Amino acid sequence: MTQPSFATHEVFNQSPPFEDVDLFALDRPLGDAVAANGGGAAEKELSEFGRHWGSAAMAERGRLANENTPKLRTFDARGNRRDVVEFHPAYHELMAHSAHAGVHNSTWDTQGRPAGGASEVVRAARFYMAAQVETGHLCPITMTRASVAALASQPDLLAKAMPVIATRSYDPGFTPWWTKRGMTLGMGMTEKQGGTDVRSNMTRATRDGDAYRIVGHKWFMSAPMCDAFLVLAQAGEGLTCFFMPRFAPDGSVNALHFQRLKDKLGNRSNASSEVEFENAYGLRVGEEGKGIRTIIQMVQLTRQDCAIASVGLMRSGLAHALHHARHRSVFQKHLADQPLMQAVLSDMALHVEASVALVMRLCRSFDRAPDDAGEAAYVRLLTPAIKYWTCKSAPGFLYEAMECLGGNGYVEEGILARHYREAPVNAIWEGSGNVMCLDVLRALSREADAASAVLQGLVGETEGLPGASETAAFIGKIFRWPDSERVARLAVEKLALLAAAAALNQISPRSAELFAATRLAATHPAMYGAVDLASADIKSLLMRALP
Ligand SMILES: Cc1cc2nc3c(=O)[nH]c(=O)nc-3n(C[C@H](O)[C@H](O)[C@H](O)COP(=O)(O)OP(=O)(O)OC[C@H]3O[C@@H](n4cnc5c(N)ncnc54)[C@H](O)[C@@H]3O)c2cc1C
Repeated sequence: MTQPSFATHEVFNQSPPFEDVDLFALDRPLGDAVAANGGGAAEKELSEFGRHWGSAAMAERGRLANENTPKLRTFDARGNRRDVVEFHPAYHELMAHSAHAGVHNSTWDTQGRPAGGASEVVRAARFYMAAQVETGHLCPITMTRASVAALASQPDLLAKAMPVIATRSYDPGFTPWWTKRGMTLGMGMTEKQGGTDVRSNMTRATRDGDAYRIVGHKWFMSAPMCDAFLVLAQAGEGLTCFFMPRFAPDGSVNALHFQRLKDKLGNRSNASSEVEFENAYGLRVGEEGKGIRTIIQMVQLTRQDCAIASVGLMRSGLAHALHHARHRSVFQKHLADQPLMQAVLSDMALHVEASVALVMRLCRSFDRAPDDAGEAAYVRLLTPAIKYWTCKSAPGFLYEAMECLGGNGYVEEGILARHYREAPVNAIWEGSGNVMCLDVLRALSREADAASAVLQGLVGETEGLPGASETAAFIGKIFRWPDSERVARLAVEKLALLAAAAALNQISPRSAELFAATRLAATHPAMYGAVDLASADIKSLLMRALP
């Protein structure tokens, strides 16, 4: 498109912004994956969400929220403690839009029980689309949704909090949670001496009537303006989970003292604090000494969201890359028509198509797990494997997507630089890569029969796909090795690839065949586009990805 001319030159051959699009309608692999996993009836509302989040106005909110980072106001002008964090209005607007669509609560009913139906799949589709626009604000959104699973261990507390969690209002006011129109929750586990090893937590909780007083610190505690946090602290019987609100029951500000905000690589719109608890008020959640068992219910769900967000980021990278390649000409020919660029883009499209099929299949298991032991076993074994594979593949994928836009991909005006900086955090938090692999090994050793049934299910679902039976045999063999930790990364990656091929096979057998040929029958090369797909396959993959 020709643009108005400058004194020295005319502007042309720049791709128009990828904005004011329907993020749902343009994404056939997403629509197919939602339908295949039981969410087809929500197509209309997902398209509405896709149009809204694909608008230029939402993109602008994402930019503003990240350029105007949150600020900690520890004290007021007179030296009184305030411990509040100020966010740009755009951040609050993003929060309000997500809350309005129920991204923070729609998998629960008003009592905090699983909402049933395809609520996980439908909500995941929203989370995935929102992640394409702005991921920082999704941190409190995912934590709020996930906290309900841990609060279920304390039914009296859940019954009080649920009416405020279950609303679709976002209320940013700094007032006690029980007075608000809607509330958000965060999580505090990581301390200076240990994040993975939460058993080393030093923060202590002492009984004070029906409540506890908590003394100690957290080295990372994100979204500090949440209305309450689920924190781990050592009580008489050992590590215990506590509900720590920003306000004590008498209406005074609870003693959560923020030391500073982290200066982070990405995830800039979200604040991540270092905090001290100086005799802070807390209520026990679950039994004393059962803190890990309680909070892991929450972490299981945030891990699921890390995977969904990572695939959302990759989808955005792919869509921007494809859009640019269709508008940008080099050597008198659109990039999208150059065979080498087609090889890169189609290989990337295949990766995203398999990834979205996989995360939506996982969400179907979350939907069905309460009534189906087989689906519960799928959730248990595959959530860490899928988090591992999707989150760890996102940074490399986004780097490639950025390169498809050339220099424009690398500058901050575009969204890809922000996505690239954001991507690694999903692999680090909620259990880093190695921790996910150890978790898969734990599921295999503690629930061996259930895990083996899941693997058998994948074998059936991938029957006839190139390399599938060999991959399954290899996984089975490697997991039986006495020294399996040393080879766990290889086996977990292969497990995720097999599960992805199985999920894709239910949606698009032709894509599943290509995926298996390039990822199961052969080791995928380090770079995208270094595989040989037929030109007919390339065309169909790219049309499915972005018509
Ligand atoms: C932006 C951001 C926000 C965060 N927000 C929060 C928050 O809100 N609440 C919260 O509680 N935490 C939060 N965290 C902390 C995060 O969850 C931890 O950083 C993470 O769990 C890793 O813990 P760690 O940093 O102590 O690293 P470590 O536990 O020291 O781990 C370092 C590395 O060693 C690996 N490793 C650990 N154990 C083993 C093993 N047995 N064998 C092999 N390798 C191993 C890990 O995979 C990791 O790669 C946040 C982190 C970031 C970056």
